[in-house]
Amino acid sequence: MNITSKLPEVGTTIFTIMSKMAADHGAINLSQGFPNFEVDPILKDLVNHYIQSDHNQYAPMVGIPELRQAIAKKKALLYGRDIDPDQEITITNGATEAIYSAISALVRSGDEVIIFEPAYDSYVPAIQVNSGVPRPIRLKSPDYKIDWEEVRRTVNERTKLIIFNTPHNPTGSIWSHEDIEELRAITKGTDIFVLSDEVYQHLIYDGAQHESVLRYDDLYRRSIVAMSFGKTFHATGWRIGYVIAPPDITSEIRKVHQFNTFSINRPLQHALADYLNVPERYLSLNEFFQSKRDLFVDAIKDSRFKLLPCRGTYFMLASYQGISDQDDQSFARWMTKSCGVAVIPISSFYTDDTDEHIIRFCFAKTNDLLLEAASLITKV
Ligand code: GLN
Repeated sequence: MNITSKLPEVGTTIFTIMSKMAADHGAINLSQGFPNFEVDPILKDLVNHYIQSDHNQYAPMVGIPELRQAIAKKKALLYGRDIDPDQEITITNGATEAIYSAISALVRSGDEVIIFEPAYDSYVPAIQVNSGVPRPIRLKSPDYKIDWEEVRRTVNERTKLIIFNTPHNPTGSIWSHEDIEELRAITKGTDIFVLSDEVYQHLIYDGAQHESVLRYDDLYRRSIVAMSFGKTFHATGWRIGYVIAPPDITSEIRKVHQFNTFSINRPLQHALADYLNVPERYLSLNEFFQSKRDLFVDAIKDSRFKLLPCRGTYFMLASYQGISDQDDQSFARWMTKSCGVAVIPISSFYTDDTDEHIIRFCFAKTNDLLLEAASLITKV
């Protein structure tokens, strides 16, 4: 058949490629972002309980009320916002579906969407498959700060949506209050929507505050927030997340969601609703991952890699300038095959393949595995 691809430039995601390469070569997999440690046995027991007690049929399309209520309670506690669980929260198949459904609901042919690169790799294809036009704004190492003047120059009457992500994958940078103020000023009086990818909300370090758009009335009015249970409770394979947005936006997102996934795994929703009742289970994550970051930094401090600051997420960037002049895709493959540690090349997160000779390590691993990886990394 003669297929005119809607996504001619898209191949297989770098996460799938590098994880497969890690498995093929028996390398330690610090590439794709997922923990190698177990889900809390209490949560596993809850899932088991709800499967055994036959909570196994379709969940309501928007998610079970108990889980949406538990999420609303959590957001009130964390960000001081009263969210209506019936009209503003929808359970999704991971944050990736939340992002996809939001973009599909809002972006029409020719609409422009501002993204900040390096950007998570699902944004651009989701925009393009909906005939939108990505307008990337390039951020540069080592601090990846946003040039707000450039954002002002890029916004025009076709700008439909601005997508951002804090704490930021892959760079580990976080938005400051000043960034939020700039965004508020730029969007004020416009019809521009904001898609805030906050899947790493609990992975923020050194006492920093997570700048959720949920904290700001005027921003929230135009916002869609994507969140993830996979990242929060070490269960990326469960594919369960949620999207929060004001009622008018939520109702459009649900139109897409219902014909995309219809509804999400029911026993998991019941288990998570119960599990969320103890705030300590998510409030302790900063400390937990910060100590992993510190252990990893300390273990590779004598390597020839130059580490970039990591203020959030479970990713750490490192420059290999001075080690090799290979491009980052080749270097990541070389690391996997010859050093025994799989990593992600950062050019995969730029539409123009910008290559600053930087790779990403994922440190969501047991301390033993991190130390083992560090001893291989320091030999490079
Ligand atoms: N979010 C994870 C990462 O950045 C990967 C998710 C995926 O493989 N789709 O590594």
